[in-house]
Amino acid sequence: MSTLIENALIVTQDQTRRIFRGNVQFDGDTITYVGREKPKSESIIDGTGKIVIPGFINTHAHVGMSASKGLFDDVDLERFLDMTFKYDAQRTEDGIFNSARIGMYEMINAGITSFVDLYYSEDVIARAAEQVGIRAFLSWVTLDREFTTQKGDPLDNAENFIRSHRNMRFVRPSVGVQGIYVASDETYHRAKEIADRYDTILHMHLSETRKEVYDSVKKIGERPIEHLDRIGVLSDRVIAAHCVWSTYHEAKILGKDNVNVSWNSVSNFKLATGGVPPIPEMFEAGANITLGTDSNGSNNSLNFFEVMKFSALTLKNARWDASAIKSQQILDFATINAANALKINAGSIEVGKKADIVILDARAPELIPTSEINVVNNIVYSAGPGIVDSVIIDGIFRKKDGKLIGFDQSGLSSAENFI
Ligand SMILES: [Zn+2]
Repeated sequence: MSTLIENALIVTQDQTRRIFRGNVQFDGDTITYVGREKPKSESIIDGTGKIVIPGFINTHAHVGMSASKGLFDDVDLERFLDMTFKYDAQRTEDGIFNSARIGMYEMINAGITSFVDLYYSEDVIARAAEQVGIRAFLSWVTLDREFTTQKGDPLDNAENFIRSHRNMRFVRPSVGVQGIYVASDETYHRAKEIADRYDTILHMHLSETRKEVYDSVKKIGERPIEHLDRIGVLSDRVIAAHCVWSTYHEAKILGKDNVNVSWNSVSNFKLATGGVPPIPEMFEAGANITLGTDSNGSNNSLNFFEVMKFSALTLKNARWDASAIKSQQILDFATINAANALKINAGSIEVGKKADIVILDARAPELIPTSEINVVNNIVYSAGPGIVDSVIIDGIFRKKDGKLIGFDQSGLSSAENFI
């Protein structure tokens, strides 16, 4: 069925970053018209006072942990991981399923149409994603056997997961690595080999804390990014979450290897990692910068507007330079760059792209006044989930007129339903 959103302010995120007042038509799962004409359509949505943007793409999450908000607060990463691993060890499939659904609805509520996840039990999360109807890039986490609570070999589990989830509508299965502190070169090589064989992303935590970097230097004489580059793991398949403790030299390596960096500023600051990644230098060097929320355990929310604003502010402040990063770059990280990282036909409002579309309400007080001149600034610095009017994923409304569709709270109010 064809639907026309008419008379809206359209932030296309196309090649020239065109912004104009006009109309967007989608038919089934594809955008079929963008311009000033009004092609005949079966359904019309009045976009007066609304803004149309491509859906946000969250490149680092652990959505199975969405119910762990407020459980591990005010501790550093080491203590946080300790508490998380203990929590993980006692979880049930139902608990993970319920947590994942909650996280997916929270993301849709904030205008996220695709996300990249790193966890075990991704088969359970895949079931939730297909039910909710959000695009889910699910990376089964691997690590050395001596450190895992997974049954069997994590790498075999990852490969089995990919093999059995290749033909789903919303799910794209892949492989991940927890981090250099629990993964040997052999684990990295095997994970890379799986990603190459099945043509998937390779998702990992990388250089998140100073301790991780210093321990690596002490143990193997190299910093994590230098090491993974030397053993041949880094490539444009890699989504590297954090990269906070990177030198300018490592920024060049990430660029040379065409790595996709997922910048998780809110999680990093909450866990007091003490630094800001050298984003301008990575960008200069050619790395593809994207944004992530990380989990509700370390971020406490999956609010992508907060991540966009916070990322910009932390970098500006760290550099004593208000122009160190611009709102247009931040919006690029949140949309088109992330689509490129995932090699999906989305991330912009253009004919032929997937109908992953978000409609914002520019009549909300926080966005008045908004025009072509300030719309990108207002999306990045002034907006919040409350102004997300509608979310369309693969041509289907998942939020409409400010209300989530299909979100059923019954049976989800009690904490024990999430363990
Ligand atoms: Zn993470």
